[in-house]
Amino acid sequence: MEAAAAEPVPNILVVDDDPASRTWARVNLQRAHYTVREAQHADEALAAVAAQVPDLILLDVMLPGIDGFELTARIRENPTLATVPIILLTVLDDPASKVRGLEAGANDFLIKPPERNELLARVRTLLRAKRDQEALLAERNKTALLYRVSRELASELDLDVTLSRILELTMAAIGATRSSLILLDERENVVRHIYSYKGQVTSMNNVASERIVREGLAGWIIRNRESVLLADARQDPRWLAVGYSSFVTRSVLAVPLLHQERAIGVVTLTHEQVGSFTSDHLELLTTIAAQSATALANAQLYETVKEERGRLQAILAGTDDVVVAVDQALEITLLNPAAERAFHLSLEEATGWPLAEVLTFAPLVTAFRQAKAGEGPLRPGEITLPDGRTLFFTLSPVADWPYSEGGWVAVMQDITNLKQLDRMKNEFIATVSHDLRTPLATIHGFAELLSKMVAGEAREHAERIKAQARRTTQLVEELLDLGKIESGMDTVRERCALDAIVSEAVEAAQFQASSCGVMLQTEVASIARPVLGNPVRLRQVVDNLVGNALKYTPAGGAVAVRAWEKDDQVFVTVQDSGVGIPRDALPRIFEKFYRVPRVGTENVPGTGLGLVIVKAIVEQHGGQVWVESEVNAGSTFGFTLPLEG
Ligand code: ADP
Repeated sequence: MEAAAAEPVPNILVVDDDPASRTWARVNLQRAHYTVREAQHADEALAAVAAQVPDLILLDVMLPGIDGFELTARIRENPTLATVPIILLTVLDDPASKVRGLEAGANDFLIKPPERNELLARVRTLLRAKRDQEALLAERNKTALLYRVSRELASELDLDVTLSRILELTMAAIGATRSSLILLDERENVVRHIYSYKGQVTSMNNVASERIVREGLAGWIIRNRESVLLADARQDPRWLAVGYSSFVTRSVLAVPLLHQERAIGVVTLTHEQVGSFTSDHLELLTTIAAQSATALANAQLYETVKEERGRLQAILAGTDDVVVAVDQALEITLLNPAAERAFHLSLEEATGWPLAEVLTFAPLVTAFRQAKAGEGPLRPGEITLPDGRTLFFTLSPVADWPYSEGGWVAVMQDITNLKQLDRMKNEFIATVSHDLRTPLATIHGFAELLSKMVAGEAREHAERIKAQARRTTQLVEELLDLGKIESGMDTVRERCALDAIVSEAVEAAQFQASSCGVMLQTEVASIARPVLGNPVRLRQVVDNLVGNALKYTPAGGAVAVRAWEKDDQVFVTVQDSGVGIPRDALPRIFEKFYRVPRVGTENVPGTGLGLVIVKAIVEQHGGQVWVESEVNAGSTFGFTLPLEG
């Protein structure tokens, strides 16, 4: 902290119409190192106290015109002069005059002419009493002020209001003419710079603020985290001449706003007179700054959160995506406007209600419940709104954070158009495939006939035509199957014994396995409960997976088919020791017509539809498919199906 101004010399006003008495008093007081002013009568005395408040008044009672009693009473009427000690000089030592004097507000009496030592002793005593009284008063005011500051700041979260209040309170308390407050962010950029003069708070322009922080006193304070008291800013090179007010400024009091060891800003108070501030002012401002810093840091944090919230809300309100968030109890915490429109619900109505009661869409409710139970990865799904629109949803967890517990959020996109397109495409494929069936059968039939009629090279050609016709027929059949499954037309549901279906499928594949030189084994547990489904389709699933395992496993390898039940589900896996699937191809394996591009299997017949059909059937039955694979080590395809009752 910089040095404070020296203790000022007390100044005493001597009021007496007798020049000899005045001079006597002046000379003696000056010898005792007091500053002395003189007045001959009441009017002069009143003018003198108005120009400068004296520390003590020595007042002759017998003045012409307004006498000493009357003048004492008038002086006491002025609140700023209420504590100035007054010694009355009386000629007579009579009790009546003393009572009058005390009633008027005098502090002490001396009989005229006073004795020198007595005068000085009385003056000293009264000055000390005045200082003590003022210190006490200041302490009380300071405590009251600090209490007010802390109470007002604690209840205020708005940053601008907080800043203005801090300036208002400190200026009033310290008696500055202007004040300013600079607030910085973590990277020491100026976030706010406000300036207060005559009750008006204005924002300063950023260029000036940046310069003050870079080159000026504020910058020095931020870097050194120290307060500064300047008796005259003109004598200090750190005071920059930026703007008009900086030219008229003489006294400066500036303290850093420290929060958790960091200077988050600077408060500066100024005055046009030299030496207006004392070390007491500095101490007071430092205390206020300490309280303000915490309030400001809170307000700044609140503002950041508010801004982020506002930005998020704008995004949520602007998007066409439907957004629904729930807390950990699966109670609704948020619906964006698109969600309100889609579900004909308002956020107020829905907030706090259990999701399952308000949004009764089975796939959505199930997905949220599975998320809550922590069952596997969060699964996407589809729901159909009463107006026929289809929404595709994905779930994500919402992380916990200090002021709220986490939960989950579903973001849903309207895929009605895509569904429509998909349906049209499926219908088109179904029609074309259907129309191709008859000519393909004819081609196959005639090629068969031809191969029997001819020999040699011609027969080979006929055989090739036959093989191609067969392959195309398979493709057409698969396309038709897929069309049926995907369109939901496949509605057959019977109680199926999965263990039997798996065993029969493996049995049927044994011949193919031995002709490829692959060992095909089963480990099928007996499964007591049935699966509700279409037995033909379920057999198709196992056939496809076993068929693939055999196709992609070289001679000498092994394929194991396993089935077991667990937690109301049946699990089936087909594990092979074959060529495996590269990691980057795995996510595409269930796409239509996708075949892994790899050397060595180009001649393996296939359409790239087998796994698509598998997935479609399993999902139609309420189950799931997965795959794990490693190149040259083998693959495991698995699926689950829900068991009945
Ligand atoms: P495809 O008729 O080509 O077999 P699928 O849909 O059944 O069509 O399979 C898609 C692709 O997945 C295949 O082309 C193959 O590359 C790969 N694939 C399927 N099963 C296996 C397996 N058991 N081992 C290695 N690759 C496999």
